[in-house]
Order: sequence, then C-alpha cells, then structure tokens
Amino acid sequence: MTVVAMGMPAVRSGRPSMDGRPDTPYLVDRFGRTARDLRVSITEKCSLRCTYCMPEEGLPPIPADELLTTAEIVRLVVLAVREMGIHEVRFTGGEPLMRHDLEQIIAGCRAELPETPMAMTTNGIGLEHRARKLVAAGLNRINVSLDTVDREGFARLTRRDRLPSVFAGIRAARQAGLTPIKVNAVLMRENLAGAADLLQWCIQEGCELRFIEEMPLDADHEWARANMITAAELLEVLGTRFTLTEAGREDPSAPAERWQVDGGPATVGIIASVTRSFCGDCDRTRLTADGRIRSCLFSDQEYDVRAALRSEATDGDIATLWRGAMWNKWAGHGIAEAGFVPPERTMGAIGG
Ligand code: SAM
Ligand code: SF4
Repeated sequence: MTVVAMGMPAVRSGRPSMDGRPDTPYLVDRFGRTARDLRVSITEKCSLRCTYCMPEEGLPPIPADELLTTAEIVRLVVLAVREMGIHEVRFTGGEPLMRHDLEQIIAGCRAELPETPMAMTTNGIGLEHRARKLVAAGLNRINVSLDTVDREGFARLTRRDRLPSVFAGIRAARQAGLTPIKVNAVLMRENLAGAADLLQWCIQEGCELRFIEEMPLDADHEWARANMITAAELLEVLGTRFTLTEAGREDPSAPAERWQVDGGPATVGIIASVTRSFCGDCDRTRLTADGRIRSCLFSDQEYDVRAALRSEATDGDIATLWRGAMWNKWAGHGIAEAGFVPPERTMGAIGG
C-alpha cells in the first residue's frame, strides 16, 4: 500500500519487495553495493537559511509527535550497527545543534556501541558552548559547513550574519579534540572568487577543506545544470594561487577526490557529486527526522520506520523493513540525464 502525505514523498507502508535478495543481514542492494554508513537526520530546524538548501522562512515544522524521540533514534542506530552491518554513524539535519537532546542521543548510542565511529555534520553555530559536552557524550568527529570567510558574503549566502559564531565553534571543537575537522563548502557563483581565501584559512586553522558541487536539492528550486560551478572551474580558480597535485581518494567509497596543496601536507578535497557521480560506490543509508528510511538523497521512495516502531514491531521486523528498503535502492541519481526530476524533499529535510 502507498500513502502520499501533503508535500511529502510517497511513503511505502507495506513490505518492500525482497525478490532475488540473498539471505544476508547486511544492507545489500541489486547493484552489488552494501550500505555501511548511516546518516541520521535529527531535526528539520536550522539556525541558518543557506540559499542552496533552505527557503527564507525555514522548512515547515515537523509536528512534535512525528519527530523521532531520543530513545527511538538510539534504538534504530544500535539496531543498524548490531544487526545490519553499519560501520559508521553521522548525525545531521537541519542543524543537529538545534536539538537540545543531541548529547543524550549520542551518549545513548555510545553506551551501546563503544567502538562505532560517530560524527556530526553541523553549521557550527552554538558549537562553542557544546563541543566539550559532545565529546564527553562520545562524539568522535565533525564536519563544519563553511562556504566563505568573507563576513558579508557569508551573510548573503546563509541569510544570517553569524560568521564569528562559526569561527568560534570550529576553534572550540579543535580544543575539545574533535580533530581532524573537515570543512564542507558548497560551490556557488557567489563564493567562487573567495575559494582560495577559504582554503588559505582552513590550512592556517588545520582544517581539511572539501568543496561540494551544488546539487538540485535547494528549496527554492533555482538550481540549474548550466549555472552550477563545476569542479573543473574551481580547480582553475585555486590554481591561480596554489599548486595542486592529484592525491587520489582516501578510500574507494570516499566521495572526495583529494589534491595536495603546494606539495603538502595540506590537501583540498572536491566532491563532484554532479559532474563525476559516485553512485556506483555509494555505501549510505539514511534515516529522516520524522522516521523514514531513505536509500538515496534523490529517491522519493521512503519507508515508514516510525510507524513500525510505534506499533510494537520487533527488532527483527524493523531490520527486515530496512533490508528491504535498501534492496530496492536504485542505481543512481541521473542528474545529468534528460527528464531528471528533483526529489520532493530538499536537502535540509533529508539530511546531507
Ligand atoms: N546544518 C548542517 C550543515 O549545514 O552542515 C547539517 C545539514 S546540511 C543539509 C548537510 C550538508 O549538506 C552541508 O554540508 C551543506 O553544505 C550540504 N548541502 C546543503 N544543500 C546542498 C546542495 N543543494 N548541494 C550540495 N550540498 C548541499
Ligand atoms: Fe541549515 Fe545546513 Fe541547510 Fe545551511 S546547509 S540551511 S546550515 S541545514
């Protein structure tokens, strides 16, 4: 049975097809991939309004009773690691720091999973006051999103004048031991000219910078393939200040291609999600803040694990639903193909 909620993707509430699926506990799909990396979005709320992500007014709020609770998130994360072969967990959103129980969520997962790497993707606002508590709860690493070190440019891109707070957050995270800190920058026409300054700043601060090609996941639906800045354009701009030497990927499923800067040791990464799709090596599975399993950023096919959780499903039932959701994962996003249609949920509502 399929239920379509207002403005939301089609949610598969029945059992996903298991036709041809091998008998394995892992999250395998029909294209030979196995999901090992779990992205958990814990809120749709955010302290910024990045133009490539959120609408000016923010996302429509998820009603409180539809948001996964602390205990529900912990149960699902623990189950995914213990029963489905997940190796690494990343908390994201919206902005994960908007959730006051973030430390409890992490501590709850850590108590059950002492060895699992746990990371967070954040805009850094408010991190200054929470970095130590997050480390004490069991967080291992963070990625901070920062598109420019120019204060006016930052205020234009994010619609908020909060750059000093991001700087303070990054420094507090470093002091708290959340290293190495990765910085993510989305490539836009507006921040291209400042890309070399951003790289210089990251090198000085000991952060690993990765540029990301903008994907058609913005709430304002302004993305256009013809206007986007490509990895190739960025390399040209950075090449006017730095000597870049190809350094390969960290591992085959890592999305960033790395370049050594001026002979190293500093590197810069480029995630060319659009022009050099890495769908064939994708090892991700996603959980949305309102409790849906999603196999791909770009696929509107979602499975309602919240309903399962709240109808007293056993761990085995939930694992079967999750395995089925991933078995039905498609081959890739097809952004470059004619007829590509962006998904209904935007990046802030899925969790990047
Ligand atoms: N609020 C947190 C942050 O900004 O890091 C976590 C959520 S955000 C949706 C996760 C990542 O998605 C960020 O690194 C952000 O830059 C990236 N992102 C958002 N919209 C994007 C888009 N249209 N294309 C590419 N990356 C995008
Ligand atoms: Fe918020 Fe992150 Fe989206 Fe920016 S990219 S609006 S910080 S969720």
